[in-house]
Amino acid sequence: MTTVDNPLLTASELPYELPPFDRISSEHFLPAFEAGMAEQAAEVRAIADNPEPPTFDNTIVALERSGELLDRVAEVFFNLNASHTDDTLRAVHAEIAPKLAAHSDAIHLDAALFARVERLYEDRDSLGLDEESAWLLRRYHLDFVRAGAALGEAEKARLRELNTELSSLATRFQDNLLADTNDLAVLVTDRAELAGLSEATIAAAAEAATARDEDGKYLLSLSLPTAQPLLSSLENRSVRERLFRASVARGNRGGEHDNKAVLLRIARLRAERAALLGYPHHAAYAIEDQTAGTAQAATDLLRRLAPVAVANARAEAAELTEEIARSGEDHPLEPWDWAFYAERVRRRRFDVDGAELRPYFELDRVLKDGVFHAATKLYGVTFTERHDLPTYHPDVRVFEVFDADGSPLGLFLGDYYARESKRGGAWMNSYRVPSRLLDRKPVVVNNLNITKPPQGEPTLLSFDEVETTFHEFGHALHELLSDTRYPTFAGTNVPRDFVEFPSQVNEMWVLWPEVLANYARHYRTGEPLPQRLVEKLQESRSYGEGFATTEYLAASLLDLAWHTLDADTTVEDVAAFQAQALEKAGVAVPEVPPRYASTYFAHIFCNGYSAGYYSYIWSEVLDADTVEWFRENGGLTRANGDHFRRKLLSRGGSTDPMAAFRAFRGRDPEIEPLLKRRGLAGA
Ligand SMILES: [Zn+2]
Repeated sequence: MTTVDNPLLTASELPYELPPFDRISSEHFLPAFEAGMAEQAAEVRAIADNPEPPTFDNTIVALERSGELLDRVAEVFFNLNASHTDDTLRAVHAEIAPKLAAHSDAIHLDAALFARVERLYEDRDSLGLDEESAWLLRRYHLDFVRAGAALGEAEKARLRELNTELSSLATRFQDNLLADTNDLAVLVTDRAELAGLSEATIAAAAEAATARDEDGKYLLSLSLPTAQPLLSSLENRSVRERLFRASVARGNRGGEHDNKAVLLRIARLRAERAALLGYPHHAAYAIEDQTAGTAQAATDLLRRLAPVAVANARAEAAELTEEIARSGEDHPLEPWDWAFYAERVRRRRFDVDGAELRPYFELDRVLKDGVFHAATKLYGVTFTERHDLPTYHPDVRVFEVFDADGSPLGLFLGDYYARESKRGGAWMNSYRVPSRLLDRKPVVVNNLNITKPPQGEPTLLSFDEVETTFHEFGHALHELLSDTRYPTFAGTNVPRDFVEFPSQVNEMWVLWPEVLANYARHYRTGEPLPQRLVEKLQESRSYGEGFATTEYLAASLLDLAWHTLDADTTVEDVAAFQAQALEKAGVAVPEVPPRYASTYFAHIFCNGYSAGYYSYIWSEVLDADTVEWFRENGGLTRANGDHFRRKLLSRGGSTDPMAAFRAFRGRDPEIEPLLKRRGLAGA
C-alpha cells in the first residue's frame, strides 16, 4: 500500500492534526503499524549506535522524538478499537498487541541503548539539566530497569516471551468480555415485565431488540460493573434476577468466552515476571513507582476503611430488609433487590425520584452550561463547536478549545452514546498528546455510555451520568491545560493513583449552586431545578455510601489478592479464590458483591489498572482535601482555577506528583475530608 492510499502514513493536515477519520479505514492499520514499528526501530538503532558519546539530547531527547508514525497510528487505533470497533479492528488488535509488546521490549532490552541511558543517569548531576529534563532522565532510567534492561540474556529472553503472551491474553480477556456482554443482554418478550422503566428506556430497549432482529421484543443491555443501573427501577423481581445473573455470568459460564483460564494464566505470568525482575509479587512491581509506593501502603488504606464501610453497608441492608416488609412482600434481600429498595428508601426519606430529576439534566445543557461553564469560570477557557471536521461516528461532537487570551488550546471530542461497537464504562483518552518539544496541541476525547434516546427525543441524564460527564471532563482538562516540554509527561501521564485526583475534583462543580443553576433547567420549560430538589439531592448524596464504598473496596482488595500471589503459588479455582480473598479482607457481604468480579474485571486484567484499582480511593484523599481548599478560598473563581492550573494541572507528570500537590495545597494531604464525605469518620 502506498502513502497515497493510506492516510495514516502521513501527518494529518487537519487542524490540530485531527486524524482524517473520513479517509481512514480499518484495513489501513496493520500496514501502518508495521511501518511505524520499522521506522522507530531504525531511529532507535541509530541512537544506540551513535559513535558520539551519549548526551541528553542525542539519547533521551532523541528517544522522545522517535516513533512519530507509530504514535500517530497507535493513538487512532486504540481509541477506535475502544469507541467504535469492528471485526477487522479486533483482528488487528489480536495480531498487533503481541508485536507491540515485542517492539517495546526490543527497545528497552537493547544493551547498547541501555548503556547510554545508564551512563547519563550516573552523570546526571553534572549534566546541567533543568528540573523537567532531570525528571525525564530519571523516568527513562527507571523505565529501562523496570522493563528488564539490567537482566542477563537468558532472563531477557524469558521476559520477552512473558510480555508477548501477556499482551495476547489481555486481548483475549477483553474480546471474551465484549462478546459475553453482548450475548448476555437480557431479552424480554412482555412489555408488562418492564414496569418501572421510563418510556424512553423501554423505547431504547425495543430499538436494541429490533437491531438484533427481535422485532416486538425488548433487549436490556449490560453495563460494565456488577450492579446494573436498571436494577433500581425494574419492579419485576424475576427480571431483576435475570439481569443480575447475566451480569455476574460474564466470562464465567464455560464455553468459548470463558475468562477463568485466561485470568489464571495472566495472574501466574505476572507473578513470574515480577520474580524475574526481583519483586516478591506483581503488586510490589506495579506500585513501586506510584505515589503509594508499596502494596502494603495501599492495603493499609483499604483495610482502614473496610470495617466502617461494611458496618455502614450492613446497617443499610437492615433498613432495606425493613423496606421489603413495609412493601408487604416476603422475600430475603438479594443482590438484585438492593438498588430497587434503596431507591425506594431514598425516595421516601429524601423525596428524590430519579425520574423526576432527568428532565432537568439534558445532555447538551449539562455539557455547555454545566461542564464547559465551570471550566470557563475557573480557567477562562472557551469552546466553539466545529461542524466542519470529520469524525468516526455521527454521534461524535467536536469542540475547539481556546485559552483565556483567545489563543487556541486544542480539540475536545465528546462521544457520549452507548453502542455495541463501544466498550463499556466511561473514559478519557488522547488522539494527539501535547508537548512543546514536538510543538503539538492536544486532541482529547471523552467517552460515556449513555443510552441513546429514540429519534427526536432529548437525551435526559441520570444524576450519576451528570457526575460522570464532569468527571471525564476533569481528565480532559488535565490534558488540555498541560504545559510540558516532553510528551512523556503530558497531562494525564502521571501515576495512576494520582490521575483520578483532578477528574474527581472536577465533580465538585456538579452541585455547586452557581453551576447547577446554570445547567439544571427543565428541557421543555427552561424552569430551574426546584430548590426543594436541590436540597434533597444534596442530602441524599451521601445515602448509600455503605454499599458504594464496600463494593469498591471489595474489588480493590480482590485486585490486590490476585496480584500479591508469588510465582510459586498456583490457583486453580477462581470462584474459591475470590470468595476466600473477600472473606479474608473482611468485605464478604453476600448482598454487596464486588463492583467487578474476577471474570469481568477488565480494569485489572486488560486495561492497565492491575494492582491499581485502589488508586481511585487513594486519589480521593487528595481530591477531598482539594475540594476543601476550593471551599475555603471562595470556590469557583479564576484565581482559584489559575492556582490549581499553574501548580498542578499544567505540570502533568513533569515533576514529583506529591511535590506538585504540596506546592498547590501548601502542605501534605489530610485524610479527614475523605472520611467525612464517605461517612467513614469513625475509621
Ligand atoms: Zn477517571
